[in-house]
Amino acid sequence: MIENKIKQAVRDIADFPKPGIVFKDITPILKDAELCSEITAALVNQLSGVQIDVVAGIESRGFLFGMLLAQALKVPFVPIRKAGKLPAKTIQQACNLEYGSAILELHEDALIPGQKVLIHDDLLATGGTVVAAAKLVSQLQAEVVGCSFIIALEFLAGREKLKDYTPQTFALISY
Ligand code: AMP
Repeated sequence: MIENKIKQAVRDIADFPKPGIVFKDITPILKDAELCSEITAALVNQLSGVQIDVVAGIESRGFLFGMLLAQALKVPFVPIRKAGKLPAKTIQQACNLEYGSAILELHEDALIPGQKVLIHDDLLATGGTVVAAAKLVSQLQAEVVGCSFIIALEFLAGREKLKDYTPQTFALISY
């Protein structure tokens, strides 16, 4: 089962980046090319029936499988990045995360009004990051059709927070 393979590969790092946080490290997954292909296929599989024009990936780990997902779906990929990283004109949203706060940005010409956007990140924690990403998509009059993650930390209730911003939330594994 893909869920077991992912759980075996994900590495827990205690007290990173702050005391009390158990960081779910996906870098061991990236060393296993076959597992990466299986994860991409599983991400595509759970999105069957969802119409997607664009995948928006959240910096930085959301770029890894976000781009693979966009390629597999044969749709464009757009990066949502932390403040000051995108070179062209941007729009901004503030967000609170499990272990801090940040400003996210999206190029103002990244999306066309009405486009159906899937937001992807590696992990859903409190949901603050992906809510900010969804607000960026809405600011450009595009539509969030779903949010996809490899991992959801269900005990932090991010899925509940997301309900007002996306019709569907997908995750391959939960803790
Ligand atoms: P949040 O906004 O609280 O849902 O946090 C989600 C963002 O922070 C994602 O981009 C994750 O990669 C990262 N993140 C938060 N908590 C963790 C964790 N325990 N392990 C790994 N990444 C995390």
